Amino acid sequence: MEVIMAKYGEIALKGLNRSNFEDMLVKNIKRRLDKIGKFDVTRRQSTIYVQPLDESCDLDLAVKKVSHVFGIAAVQRSAVFKKDMEEIVRQSIPYLKDALERAKSFKVEAKRSDKSFPLTSPQIQQELGGALSDAYPHLITDVHNPDITVLVEIRDKGAYINAEKIPAVGGMPVGSNGNALLLLSGGIDSPVAAFMMAKRGLRVDAIHFQSPPYTSERALMKVESLCEKLTEYCGSIRFYCVPFTEIQEALRDNCSGDYFTVIMRRLMLKIANVICERGHCGALITGESVGQVASQTLAAIGCTDKAADYPVLRPLVGMDKKEIVEIARKIDTFETSILPYEDCCTVFTPKHPKTKPVLEDVLAEEAKFDFEPLIKKAIDGITVKDFKL
Ligand code: ATP
Ligand code: MG
Repeated sequence: MEVIMAKYGEIALKGLNRSNFEDMLVKNIKRRLDKIGKFDVTRRQSTIYVQPLDESCDLDLAVKKVSHVFGIAAVQRSAVFKKDMEEIVRQSIPYLKDALERAKSFKVEAKRSDKSFPLTSPQIQQELGGALSDAYPHLITDVHNPDITVLVEIRDKGAYINAEKIPAVGGMPVGSNGNALLLLSGGIDSPVAAFMMAKRGLRVDAIHFQSPPYTSERALMKVESLCEKLTEYCGSIRFYCVPFTEIQEALRDNCSGDYFTVIMRRLMLKIANVICERGHCGALITGESVGQVASQTLAAIGCTDKAADYPVLRPLVGMDKKEIVEIARKIDTFETSILPYEDCCTVFTPKHPKTKPVLEDVLAEEAKFDFEPLIKKAIDGITVKDFKL
């Protein structure tokens, strides 16, 4: 029989109620696996065990799914043998064949949490190491820097053997640190920002501003497809879509073009404030990065921030585009993000917005029109869609 052993980093447990943290992880893993088969998910001795309950379960897919659950630092696909040294040796030789034939050097590492097992850890290492060397004579033993480490764990329910520790996403379980509202555009950055904050244990909802007919139905479908993709890491996402056309038109017609972008972003935040409160979110998230575009200078960010009632989290603030793209590729949002549909941010935007807006001037410009009724109307017109895992 094979099982998946999922390990979480001890450091992540600091300051958190350990048992709550573990329960949340188990629940998140169960949810993740529900769609792909029947699995038993339990936790024992700082490890979460995922055991397939019928033959048809796709264990490779399950390994991938579990490795995408925040809070899990590493995943091992392991064989479970009887707790008998002879049996362990006899069965490990064929079980580890693929891994050992590919490797040049190896070592065996044993852990014994069941202290009633008659051999000590060094003895287990010696016995199994010797037998594997005999069976695969090309192998060199290298205790410092081996190609492969064969792990033997003697635990309550059996002996668990594996040769590969697969790194997982790490972070903290989604939901363990509260909720936040992501301003989601169709671009490359904001989906990555969602991934990064979910990694810190936030459950993420998303708000998107669209301006039909300036932005197309396909642009909206693109954003929805990004939500869908994000569920792989973020879990369920509630998606709010705001009709933003009238606000943008009023802004174009009543305020100086120099301030268009910064006021538009402030109006976005004012609407997001309301949804943040309704959705019990404790923060807003954006994909901004200092200096990337004119709306992301320190001065512009400063003026925008003043419109927010909640902390604005900007996990990409210090990252280069290249680093952001790397993550976008890893989480499989990149190809969708680069589809060439308009975002409302590019509608009516002047070629040369003020890069150093001064708050006083921005507020004076914004006061030239009473946006409140339109803000209310936009909020009433919001459509909500739930993206489930
Ligand atoms: P992205 O790649 O995320 O679109 P960007 O580099 O294109 O970012 P901007 O277009 O200036 O930068 O947007 C900055 C941030 O503002 C985005 O990361 C996103 O959080 C938010 N944002 C932009 N447009 C929208 C929109 N239509 N709806 C919701 N949020 C948006
Ligand atoms: Mg954008």
